[in-house]
Amino acid sequence: MAQSSVPADRVPRLAQALRQAGLGAYFASAEKTMGYLTGFFEDGHERLMILAVHEDGRSALLAPALSATHAQRCGIDDVRAWRDGEDPTALVRALAEEWGLAEAGVAVDDEMRASVLLSVQGVLPSARFQPGLEVLTGLTAVKEPGELEAMRAAGRVADEALAPALAQLRPGMTELDVARVIEDEMLRGGGEPVFCIVASGPHSAEPHHETGDRCLEAGDVVVIDFGCVVDRYLSDITRTVALGEPPEGAREVYAVVHRAFMAGRGAVRPGVAGQEVDRAARAEIVAAGYGEAFVHRTGHGIGMRGHEPPYMTEGNAVPLAVGNCFSVEPGVYLPGRFGVRIENIVTVTADGHESLNAEPSPTLVSVPV
Ligand code: ZN
Ligand code: ZN
Repeated sequence: MAQSSVPADRVPRLAQALRQAGLGAYFASAEKTMGYLTGFFEDGHERLMILAVHEDGRSALLAPALSATHAQRCGIDDVRAWRDGEDPTALVRALAEEWGLAEAGVAVDDEMRASVLLSVQGVLPSARFQPGLEVLTGLTAVKEPGELEAMRAAGRVADEALAPALAQLRPGMTELDVARVIEDEMLRGGGEPVFCIVASGPHSAEPHHETGDRCLEAGDVVVIDFGCVVDRYLSDITRTVALGEPPEGAREVYAVVHRAFMAGRGAVRPGVAGQEVDRAARAEIVAAGYGEAFVHRTGHGIGMRGHEPPYMTEGNAVPLAVGNCFSVEPGVYLPGRFGVRIENIVTVTADGHESLNAEPSPTLVSVPV
């Protein structure tokens, strides 16, 4: 039998989490969940594909016939295939009877398609369905050494893409030109580029600006937020620079955001709640009078997914644990003028944190024009 590429204890650990939560089964349908659990990375797209895990540790994959060979090669023993033209809910019905799920609690992937969930609910009208994120997070939020290694590598590739891009920054380049340089560098460095936001001039005041064809001008503040995948794990880094002489106030705001970034990071250690990290970063920005301009949480968890728990946000009282990975990314956005954000990914260690990105400059870097 082919060996799975992931640790063999993940399905048993999920089963244990189901028992603790009083749930009968987990229905995974997202490629990242199925792959995390078994090493079988495939998306069923519009076809019903469910990796079902019973609280007793049994698991089965309901899958289109065209995916069966791949699944078996990944070490999944119980593959129940259906062909186009057949009704896949018959497989769900048979599994539910066999596993006694008629009135069970069933956790499903948050990303499960509504069409799939609705057909599963049609088969199990008396089962109690709930989002699976919390149960899943119990497994995925603490990264294993192999996962951390991939995340360090992804961080390094992103770090190393920055300097060549900054060296090429010129007035007249478009935001998309800058993004292309960074994506090419990440590709060259061995990463698969996933996203690159380049927000220049007044666009820098929009945290989720859509990179476009605006030409960079001398005097712009430029926010660059980008990441790549290495061995399925993501990086995510933001740096803010000025092209030539920055606009009035930009150096001061940068210093405030950097202080907030350092304070947020400084709060990270095991046992501290996510909201404490947010409060530590936010306090610096509030004290400087920019509280209203920090319009988002301080950070998000990251792994195979770009955004996942734990969130560094008010209201998250869950204590951090060694191996959690998340961003610390305070920002100040002044509409019509400019914005500044600084972001590193950190992982919680026994005595604090390790940064998975290089150190950002403590002062606003001005790229000569
Ligand atoms: Zn980012
Ligand atoms: Zn981020």
